Amino acid sequence: MGLSDCLEVIWPKAKVFLDSDNLGEKFLQRPYGRVDRPKLKRTLLERCVAAGVTFMPGKVDSVSHGSGVSTVKLQDSEASISGAMVLDATGHSRRLVQFDKKFDPGYQGAYGIIAEVESHPFELDTMLFMDWRDDHLASEPEIKARNDKLPTFLYAMPFSKTKVFLEETSLVARPAVDFPDLKQRLDARMKHLGIKVKSIEEEEYCLIPMGGVLPTHPQRVLGIGGTAGMVHPSTGFMVSRMLGVAPTIADAIVEQLSKPRDKAVDAGASGRPASEAEAAAMSAAVWRAAWPVERLRQRAFFTFGMDVLLKLNLQETRSFFNAFFSLSAFHWHGFLSARLGFMQLIAFGLSLFANSSNQARADLLVKGLPGLLGMLLELAPTMGDYYGVRKEQKAAAAAARTQPAAAPAPMSTR
Ligand SMILES: Cc1cc2nc3c(=O)[nH]c(=O)nc-3n(C[C@H](O)[C@H](O)[C@H](O)COP(=O)(O)OP(=O)(O)OC[C@H]3O[C@@H](n4cnc5c(N)ncnc54)[C@H](O)[C@@H]3O)c2cc1C
Repeated sequence: MGLSDCLEVIWPKAKVFLDSDNLGEKFLQRPYGRVDRPKLKRTLLERCVAAGVTFMPGKVDSVSHGSGVSTVKLQDSEASISGAMVLDATGHSRRLVQFDKKFDPGYQGAYGIIAEVESHPFELDTMLFMDWRDDHLASEPEIKARNDKLPTFLYAMPFSKTKVFLEETSLVARPAVDFPDLKQRLDARMKHLGIKVKSIEEEEYCLIPMGGVLPTHPQRVLGIGGTAGMVHPSTGFMVSRMLGVAPTIADAIVEQLSKPRDKAVDAGASGRPASEAEAAAMSAAVWRAAWPVERLRQRAFFTFGMDVLLKLNLQETRSFFNAFFSLSAFHWHGFLSARLGFMQLIAFGLSLFANSSNQARADLLVKGLPGLLGMLLELAPTMGDYYGVRKEQKAAAAAARTQPAAAPAPMSTR
């Protein structure tokens, strides 16, 4: 993507602490990078400017459609913007896309600080991906009881011997673990690790909706990012997936707008749809590119994963990740980065089950069954003619069979 200079720190490896006992720690031979957010944003904006994108300040209020034109109304203004297609990228505020079912996600909640500290115990070449130890709660029975039931972990990025990012994270919960609770747990951890904060550079309050229903699709308004359900339902990651899908969506839009149209408004020159039916067909084609059936199946599997994680207590979570990080790199890397196809995810699931202890298998069976049934229900429509594409293809093939063979094109011998 040409964006590697937007990573401000790269740790060559990462580590997971499962407990202070038998399970111990696991080193992950995979680099971990921290994005320089202002730089990434500046880089992307510069690319837009260089490509001639026009920016207009304002907050979107609503959208209406008619005769193949979409009109976006701005808040606190008489101004509106019209176009052939509207792409909603308003994140988790989901401003314009519509849902036909209740949106009921799980939530990743985290409270973190970037702090200047007297000292900390973390190796500078290792990112601490997850620390599920709970020794720091031995003298805090109330927090310990909460953590046993609804576990949170420490995520730490050491920048130098005296500067560190520390975050107490609830992987997924419904309802979310609240911020005062997360803060209390982080304080207890820092006290136990002997970390004395000298100053706080940045505080982070993180609440990411995960899973939940997808927006109605196709629909006239297009969607990308949080608004279009693109957050990984089992991990909360989205940035890389979104950067990956953006060119696919942009290409699909360009393809639709550059198709010659019989009755186009500007005699076919602008590619604008002439009717609502034509505009709806164009949007549907872009939705198909954004959410091909394979991605829908993958998401159903990830949502099943989230459903299992929602139900695990601390001990079960540790057993789960012990099995997860014992899988082949192909499987656990592919799961986290959303690169496994549906059949590969099935193999991943079976491998995870085979790698688990007997107790963990029993837990997965009992706690995973409702989610498994939910996944099968979600998958059922994708097994047939989900987008009506095959129907269209069959009709086109049948029409082609009934047409006389086309005459060969004339050839010039000169
Ligand atoms: C603290 C925190 C840490 C995170 N860490 C990670 C991580 O390490 N890795 C990862 O992959 N993900 C991470 N995430 C998740 C990730 O940041 C989000 O999923 C992602 O930002 C969503 O991207 P988006 O572009 O869809 O929405 P956003 O980034 O939320 O952008 C939406 C934009 O739309 C604008 N907007 C909203 N309403 C309107 C309106 N009415 N009119 C005009 N504009 C509007 C907003 O101002 C905003 O600029 C983190 C999230 C948080 C909160």
